[in-house]
Amino acid sequence: MSADAVAAPLLVVGSVNADLVVRVPRHPRPGETVLGGDLAVHPGGKGANQAVAAARLGADVAFAGRVGTDAYGPLLLGALRRDGVDTSLVATDDGATGVALITVDDDGENAITVSPGANGRFTPAHVDALEPALRRARVVSLQLEIPHETVAEVMRRCAASGTRVVLNPSPGLWAMPPHALGMCDPFVVNEHEAADAVRGADSAGLEPDPRGDASDGPLERARRAVLALRASGAEPRSVVVTLGAAGAVCAENGGDLVHVPAPPVHPVDTTGAGDAFTGALAWRLALGDPLADAVGYAVRVGAAAVTAEGAQPSYPTPADLPPPA
Ligand code: ATP
Repeated sequence: MSADAVAAPLLVVGSVNADLVVRVPRHPRPGETVLGGDLAVHPGGKGANQAVAAARLGADVAFAGRVGTDAYGPLLLGALRRDGVDTSLVATDDGATGVALITVDDDGENAITVSPGANGRFTPAHVDALEPALRRARVVSLQLEIPHETVAEVMRRCAASGTRVVLNPSPGLWAMPPHALGMCDPFVVNEHEAADAVRGADSAGLEPDPRGDASDGPLERARRAVLALRASGAEPRSVVVTLGAAGAVCAENGGDLVHVPAPPVHPVDTTGAGDAFTGALAWRLALGDPLADAVGYAVRVGAAAVTAEGAQPSYPTPADLPPPA
């Protein structure tokens, strides 16, 4: 299918990785070798995770990204297609596919090395080919595992076409131009990313609560993060702060904060919960849900995603969702 034919209401633009996972008794020190278990290869990458999370919920979703000609490219494309994600905007180039080398020790602690591969070769020039799809999408969802200038170019074109942008600034800091932050609707951050985003604006207000008081700790910090973003003069159109087991808070530009608690579940593995949350949120927004309703749905998806091992393998269908808290 040509790029012209893509009319999915949700378009995820971002990264796709092969996650190579080995369990080890303990992480090796520099220069040391340890023996681990069998290698497991899982489809991953924040962009692909979001797209798969949405597709599993029944979304009409396309993914735009880049893979290489090694064995992982076709494997990752196949996984996306099996979940019903439209991959007609995924390009293949001559180099290596993105890979995450993950070791997990007996305490469940991760050590991760990411080789961006083709994700790192997704340049602003490649965004030309996405233009018709960016115009037709109801929502474009972005993360930061591809070059930041490419994310900025996608946002520039979305601004021109009036396409709604959801951005999760993960996994790293981006000194976002204020106009880019201003068009996020919403800017989706966990507590750490919220603190990073406002560092310098109101860092004093974002210190962890020294008393560890769960009743007002995370909520109060989320409130301060939203206020600090506003005070920094670069207020996104809307903000969502995810709070793990405490759910999420959301706020429209200038509006009150709404707290949406997560349903209680027995967490097994939180890997990829944030991507599941954001994929679900972007899809519900593409359907036209008001922000608080979309967050209400996304916290149930995030909660379901922590009840099983892995990222994509843990993503729920609608039948798997726990009832609202
Ligand atoms: P990760 O990096 O593990 O993918 P994150 O740090 O980006 O996640 P979190 O705030 O930890 O994001 O979690 C995202 C969402 O997943 C939460 O808003 C919530 O809906 C759900 N969630 C996470 N942990 C739990 C939990 N222990 N119980 C219920 N829901 C949870």
